[in-house]
Amino acid sequence: MITTRFAPSPTGRLHLGHAYSAALGHERARELGGRSLLRIEDLDQTRCRPGFVDGIVEDLDWLGIDWDAPTIVQSQRTGAYDEALQSLMARGLVYACFCTRADIAQSLSAPHGDAPSAYPGTCRLLPQDPQRRASTPHCWRLDSAKALHLAGLPSWTEADGARFTAAPHEIGDAILARKDAPASYHLACVVDDAASDVTLVVRGADLRSSTPTQRLLQSLLGLAEPSYLHHALITHAGGRRLAKRDLAPTLAAMREAGVNGRALARSLLAGELPLGFAWSEA
Ligand code: GLU
Repeated sequence: MITTRFAPSPTGRLHLGHAYSAALGHERARELGGRSLLRIEDLDQTRCRPGFVDGIVEDLDWLGIDWDAPTIVQSQRTGAYDEALQSLMARGLVYACFCTRADIAQSLSAPHGDAPSAYPGTCRLLPQDPQRRASTPHCWRLDSAKALHLAGLPSWTEADGARFTAAPHEIGDAILARKDAPASYHLACVVDDAASDVTLVVRGADLRSSTPTQRLLQSLLGLAEPSYLHHALITHAGGRRLAKRDLAPTLAAMREAGVNGRALARSLLAGELPLGFAWSEA
């Protein structure tokens, strides 16, 4: 049975691009008699606000999207992420990294549009020092060289059947957790996709760069392989990306302006955009 999920982070109001992503996953599941799930990715406590969760639920309801299971909330599932991290640690696939706060801080959320950070591996060869770990902020990184040696280069299938194999430079020593945060986006995402039997990951093309790392983690953790639909993005007509701080394309603003949410979802699925917006492949 097909299972899709929409996995927003409550760091702002949803915009047109989220509406398309949610509607597309929902439609795929409905067409094939499968399940569509909602997951709130709220692990990055510095950026997420509980108030945005209510807004997300309201917006999705306005679009006419319904769900087949109770909403999954990542901040309530930290034990599962820790278990996965421990199993990677036990196999020597993870090391503590003490690089600057700024290096480490940028790391917990989904890296929209960015290539994986080319971390130079500064801390990879440090001797393991529990005392330093107890007193110093640090994160946990995947030893990607070891991981690739063990699992080989990851590959994945897109929903149209095309098979891709990652290039080595697409995989870095990804951050998996931080001393003060139970899991990064990558780790929580693969653990949750597997726990809810997600078979088709529907998300924007700006998250395609996350797929090699996530496929690698799935192999290492022995998790089932979903297929992927990385869909076109919606931008402003001039090509500028939609940002959560822009007011115009938020679904809340459209609702207040009297737009019909169900009709909007239908037209997005038919490839029609409101005036002032454009499709973009990346
Ligand atoms: N939570 C991510 C976001 O903010 C999406 C993750 C995913 O779909 O894999 O867009």
